[in-house]
Amino acid sequence: MSRDQYTFTNPAELYADFDPEKQKQPEPGLEAKLHPKPDLGEDTYRGSGRLQGRKALITGADSGIGAATAIAFAREGADVAMSYLPEEEEDAQHVAGIVKEAGVTVLTVPGDLRDAAYCRDLVQQAVDGLGGLDIVVNNGGKQVFQESLTDITDEQFDDTFKTNVYGMFWVTKAALPHLQPGSTIINTTSIQAYQPSEILVDYASTKATINAFTKALAQQLAPKGIRVNAVAPGPIWTVLQVTEGQPQEKIESFGQQTPIGRAGQPAELAPAYVFLASAESSYVAGETLAVTGGSPTP
Ligand code: NAD
Ligand code: MG
Repeated sequence: MSRDQYTFTNPAELYADFDPEKQKQPEPGLEAKLHPKPDLGEDTYRGSGRLQGRKALITGADSGIGAATAIAFAREGADVAMSYLPEEEEDAQHVAGIVKEAGVTVLTVPGDLRDAAYCRDLVQQAVDGLGGLDIVVNNGGKQVFQESLTDITDEQFDDTFKTNVYGMFWVTKAALPHLQPGSTIINTTSIQAYQPSEILVDYASTKATINAFTKALAQQLAPKGIRVNAVAPGPIWTVLQVTEGQPQEKIESFGQQTPIGRAGQPAELAPAYVFLASAESSYVAGETLAVTGGSPTP
């Protein structure tokens, strides 16, 4: 391993050869068909036992930020249950293979987060298959831009909220009875919660909701020894962006407006999830950790 996440580097010069082209895929998209390929940390993430023996459930774990988190968790010693849509089996199997190489247990549980019954079954399968649960990462999400509010169909509005908000609610509610003190819940919000784009009205609204949900629940569960936090990514190169997450004309310059001057890679998000999952963040609750390439958040 020539470079790992601890290597002293100029962050503005990392990924200097990253040069995305216009491209489109139908939702939910396959990372296997995305070019350039996002960095999931598969060649770089070095674990050091920070999650030894922990048992994690991660939604949207087949690709992007969820996949990078699954790989990092596994290398830190956690068993991992992966949630994703059935159409993403190819990506999921690829990531599950990398997770397994870390010597931990991996479980793949495809299904639709818009379905409450699936969310409950997912948690049960994770608990049964891993022998318990003490980390929940609500990360699965839907983002489809529309230039006008009148172009957001009732179905899209419903799907975005069902996936991003209801799925998180259903998974968390089902998980709660299984979580012992010391357990951690991490939700994926976004810079969009603070700087909503005019073309992401429904999506940005769900991300603000996720922030409020996180901060309210954190206060409720902290006395029980369960910490709830969130991660707010900025522009990260994932398949979400080419499945109508952004207009085509924004793909080529994606992320260049950030102070660091480039898009982030999923590998650069994973350490934030590891920190919030592990006991080293024992006094951190109700926090949203921004990983935005320097774009300010409140
Ligand atoms: P991604 O497409 O790789 O991951 C999103 C995953 O969500 C998919 O892989 C899919 O498994 C899951 N998903 C979507 N709809 C689902 C459904 N109905 N049922 C079950 N699973 C479903 O993209 P990503 O960028 O890694 O996204 C992960 C999270 O990060 C999302 O919550 C997204 O909103 C958030 N986020 C991404 C960015 C970014 O720039 N990429 C920025 C801020 C926040
Ligand atoms: Mg995917």
